Amino acid sequence: MYGPGDVRVIDVPDPRIEAPTDAILRTVVACVCGSDLHPYHSMRPNPDGASMGHEMIGVVEEVGAEVATVRPGDVVIVPFVWSCGVCDFCREGLQTSCRIGGVGGGQQRTGGAQAEYRRAPLADGTLYRLDVDENDERMPGLLTLSDVYATGYHAALMGGAGPGRTVTVIGDGAVGLLSVLAARQLGSERIILMGRHEVRTDLGRRYGATDVVPERGEEGIAAVRDLTGGDGTHVVIDAVGHLPAYEQALAVVRPGGAVSRVGVPQYTEGPIGRVQFNRNVSITGGAAPVRAYIERLLPGVLDGSVDPGAVFDRELPLDDAAEAYRLMDSREALKVLLRP
Ligand SMILES: [Zn+2]
Ligand SMILES: [Zn+2]
Repeated sequence: MYGPGDVRVIDVPDPRIEAPTDAILRTVVACVCGSDLHPYHSMRPNPDGASMGHEMIGVVEEVGAEVATVRPGDVVIVPFVWSCGVCDFCREGLQTSCRIGGVGGGQQRTGGAQAEYRRAPLADGTLYRLDVDENDERMPGLLTLSDVYATGYHAALMGGAGPGRTVTVIGDGAVGLLSVLAARQLGSERIILMGRHEVRTDLGRRYGATDVVPERGEEGIAAVRDLTGGDGTHVVIDAVGHLPAYEQALAVVRPGGAVSRVGVPQYTEGPIGRVQFNRNVSITGGAAPVRAYIERLLPGVLDGSVDPGAVFDRELPLDDAAEAYRLMDSREALKVLLRP
């Protein structure tokens, strides 16, 4: 990506093993993420371009001398954060804070996932080996485990979704819809989805939403309050990341409840003061340690009892990545899968 709206598919040198803990991956499937649209709108033009994409499934082509858990030929899920797997944070299931990997800058160092090949650092701690063939028809669902499904699960879990706990999800993108699915899986019965794109909210209903609120702002807030006896819900998931969504979340969370944020915040200031204090509102969520959830979520994807892959409504060859961005930005597509 070279600047707002400027995506080009170019040839670059193939990645090589740089550290003994690296693996080289050949991409099987990748995709565009809602969070890729933030730079698509606002990045500072960069003549060198920024390599994009952080969600993929790959085949291991080559491994460094110290890699022990994956071998050439293995099909692997690539979580969007690199993690060593052995430090204290990794062992606590917070791979996003890994002492030597973690969030921040990693993607630029390794090249993005919207590519034919990619270097994966910390291969042992990061890559999750699958027992499937690279042509498996469940690839779209498996791909959601590299980010969006696991991120939705993180949102619902951190927010405290569960039996008897009502949930509002703000945002009808892939993460919002999969937050609905996850909240339902965790046992919440009442799930209100705030979104106004009907094809998407229909999928949200399929995933477990009991109510859909298309209104935004004050009207949307009033609608959620009406549905909940004036109190709001125990859990509110912000799967958008813009300030109005966060403000909306604070306005529909029940006293004692939690706002769980998984949309990457595009703001640096917002309400956190006395009003939230008096109502005992928690602010939780954050970058999802996807690697920690794969084992838990994989069986349902493999046996077909959940269908997170339904968020992919378009598929394009990698060469058409620019069109994939355009389709998602114009909301003509919910999420576009890319195949080299
Ligand atoms: Zn993503
Ligand atoms: Zn670590």
